[in-house]
Amino acid sequence: MSGSVKHLFITGGVVSSLGKGITAASVALLLKQRGYKVFLQKLDPYLNVDPGTMSPYQHGEVYVTEDGAEADLDLGHYERFAGANCTKQSNYTTGRIYSTVIQRERQGGYLGGTVQVVPHITDEIKKAILSCDETGADIVITEIGGTAGDIESSPFLEALRQLRVDLGPENAVFVHLTLLPYLNASGELKTKPAQQSAGILRSIGIIPDVLICRTEVAMEEEHFKKLSLFCSVPRAAVIEEKDVKNSIYEVPIELAKQGLDSLILRKFNLPENQLDLSLWSAMVARAINPERGKVRIAVVGKYMALRDAYKSIFEALSHGAIDQSLDLTIKCIESEDLQNRDPHEFLGEVDGILVPGGFGYRGLEGKIEAVKYARINNIPFFGICLGMQCAAIDTARDLAGLPDANSLEFDESTPHPVISLMDKQKKVVNKGGTMRLGAYPCILKEGSRALDAYGSTEVSERHRHRFEFNNDYRERLEKAGLRLTGLSPDGKLVEVVERPDHPWFLAVQFHPEFKSRPLRPHPLFSAFINASFKGQKK
Ligand code: GLN
Repeated sequence: MSGSVKHLFITGGVVSSLGKGITAASVALLLKQRGYKVFLQKLDPYLNVDPGTMSPYQHGEVYVTEDGAEADLDLGHYERFAGANCTKQSNYTTGRIYSTVIQRERQGGYLGGTVQVVPHITDEIKKAILSCDETGADIVITEIGGTAGDIESSPFLEALRQLRVDLGPENAVFVHLTLLPYLNASGELKTKPAQQSAGILRSIGIIPDVLICRTEVAMEEEHFKKLSLFCSVPRAAVIEEKDVKNSIYEVPIELAKQGLDSLILRKFNLPENQLDLSLWSAMVARAINPERGKVRIAVVGKYMALRDAYKSIFEALSHGAIDQSLDLTIKCIESEDLQNRDPHEFLGEVDGILVPGGFGYRGLEGKIEAVKYARINNIPFFGICLGMQCAAIDTARDLAGLPDANSLEFDESTPHPVISLMDKQKKVVNKGGTMRLGAYPCILKEGSRALDAYGSTEVSERHRHRFEFNNDYRERLEKAGLRLTGLSPDGKLVEVVERPDHPWFLAVQFHPEFKSRPLRPHPLFSAFINASFKGQKK
C-alpha cells in the first residue's frame, strides 16, 4: 500500500460541535510551520452526496472550493488556518461513497459477488483517504465527522482501524477530541464521558495516540492522570484544549505550547524541525489589540439564528478588521424583520451593511430594504451573490422606473426580470452540484472601487449561483447609476456592480469570503471595513 505519506486521523467523542475542524486546521498549521506539506480531508457520515442541497439551518454554510466542490464548512477552517488548497478530494460523504459503489455494482464491477459494507464500502473509504497521497503531501489529515458511537460513522471508523494495520502505526496516527464537561453545581470537571468515548473507540479496535480535551476550565494534574489511565494514552499525550478568550486563531498557539505538534511528529518518526509561528502570533496580537477604533457592521440575512450559516462571511469581516486594526462588532439582522418595521430601528447605528448570498424568496424584500437604506443614507454597502442581485433589483425598482422588477428565481412572471436564469442553467434538471460553481476569472474596469481594492484588473473568485444579471437591462440600470465594473472575460456575465454616486457601494456575483485568510485578508472586505470606519458619524 501507500509508501511514506503519513496519515493523521481525527475523531470526536461525547458531543458534536466540539471544534474538530478548528483543531484539525490548527494541527495542520503547526505541521506546516514545521516545514511539512499538509493536505486536509473531511469525511462526513451523512447520506447526502454533498451538503449543497441542505439548508444552512441543517448544516451551516456550504463552502465552495476553487475546483467547484460544494463542501463542509470545516474546509473553510482548513484553508484559513493552514492556507491549504482544498479540492473535491477534501470532502467525502457516506452518500458519495455509496453512490460510487452502487454505480460500480450496476456496471458489473463486482460480478458474482455479494456487495457488503465490509469490505466494499470500507475499501471505498480507504481509497478516498489514500487518494490524498497523490497530492504530494507529506502528511494527510483526515477528520471524521460525527461522534464516536454514531451508527452512521461506524464504517468510517472500521476503515480507519483497517488502515492502521495496512499502513503500520508509524504511518497512521489517531487523535481523539473529546469533552470534559464542567458541573457548576459540584464545581467539578468530569472525565467520565471522555473515558466512555475512548472506550467506544477501543471496542472498535482503535486506541487513540493523542487525546485532546475540550474544556471550559483549566484541567488539573489528576484529570490528566485519570484520562491517561482509563484511555490507555500516555500522560504526555493528553492535551488540554481550553476555550480561548478572544479569537479562534489563538487555538494553534495554545496547542503548540503543549507540544502537540512535536508529539505527532515523534509518533510519525519524522524530524521535528523548527516551528515558526511568528507571522501567525503577530496576526493574533493585532486581532486582540485593535488600535484604530471600533466599527459596527450589519449582516442582513435569513439564517441569522445559526451563526455557522454565514461562517466565512463573519471570518472575512474579522480579517478585514484585523487588517484595518479595528475592533469589529457584527450585528446579525434577520431580513424578514426589516419587512414589517422601520429599517432605521435596526440599521440606524451601524457603519456598514452587508447583504450575503442566499436562496428562496423568504426574507428577500427585507434584504432589498437593507440595500435601499444603505444607498439612501450613504452607508457603505457590500452585496454578495444574492446581495448583488438585490442591489440590481433595488436600482431597477427605485431609480429605473421598473417597480415590478424582480429575479426570475422569485417571480417567474415578473415583467422585468433584471436577474434571470443563466443560459447554461436552462436545461439543468438535477439540483445537486449543478450550479455555476468554483473559480472563474473576472475583468475589472478602470476607475472602479473594485480595481482600487484589488490593485489588479484580472481577478479570480469562487461562484455558486444559477441566476445572473440580465444583460437586456444593462443600459437601463447603468443609466440609473449602477456601474457594471466587473465582467467575465468574454464580457457576457456581470460580476461586479458599483454606485459611483455613493461613498462605497459595491456588490459582487461571486463569493470573495471563501478566499479571505487571516494572514491574507480579502481586499474587498478590507476596503469595505475601512470605508465603514471612515464614514462613521463621529
Ligand atoms: N439564489 C441566487 C442564485 O442562485 C443567489 C445564489 C447565492 O447567493 N449563492 O443565483
